[in-house]
Amino acid sequence: MEPRREQDFARLVAQVQACRHCPAMEGRRRVLSAANGSPAATVMFIAEAPGRRGGEITGVPLTRDASGRRFTRLLALSGLERDTVCITNTVLCNPQRADGANRRPTTAEQSNCAGWLSAQMRLVNPPVVATLGATALKALARIESHRIQLREAVAQPQRWAGRLLVPLYHPSPRAGLSRAYDQQEEDFRRLGAIIRDHHPGRIRVAGRAYLPQQPPAATLVVPSCTNEGP
Ligand code: SF4
Repeated sequence: MEPRREQDFARLVAQVQACRHCPAMEGRRRVLSAANGSPAATVMFIAEAPGRRGGEITGVPLTRDASGRRFTRLLALSGLERDTVCITNTVLCNPQRADGANRRPTTAEQSNCAGWLSAQMRLVNPPVVATLGATALKALARIESHRIQLREAVAQPQRWAGRLLVPLYHPSPRAGLSRAYDQQEEDFRRLGAIIRDHHPGRIRVAGRAYLPQQPPAATLVVPSCTNEGP
């Protein structure tokens, strides 16, 4: 990684660690560090928030808890390796209910953290963004508006902000009510195929750079998203 990007990332991490925008997040870990992955990644995954049994404990998004274990299995199906991608969240702290259970981040918390997500996007500048769940997909509209709906666009490449956006469902068991796990497995395989078609040589399979044996699929249609507000 270029030293300049490394320095900028370290500065961003320091700013986030000092963030006190959300009163309910006092005492919670700010889950952004070198452990989120490569700041020069081709693919940035964006989930909803760190989990109380996952990122809040480990400091690494999508690890340790049920969502993390499922994500690790799904990521393997895509052919991507964790150390070559960047993983972050719509909000960087773990939102909890009064009883300590995870909760969805409030609209205010999502707005508060949108600037940090935008800063990560500018710094990493990934050609491919994969959102995990509706909250993450909506969060992108705060950076550059779009009208993409998860249900209609799941695993279909979209153009957004000069990047390729692949909307996916969140790997949490709860999301299984909307998207069966075997469908999610297919979605992640498709994500791998999309990246191999659009960015050959930029992902590794079993530790080696992947180079396609076939020319990119000519049938892959990437619709343009509108720039109207959601
Ligand atoms: S969720 Fe984001 S904006 Fe809110 S305190 Fe944590 S880092 Fe700051």
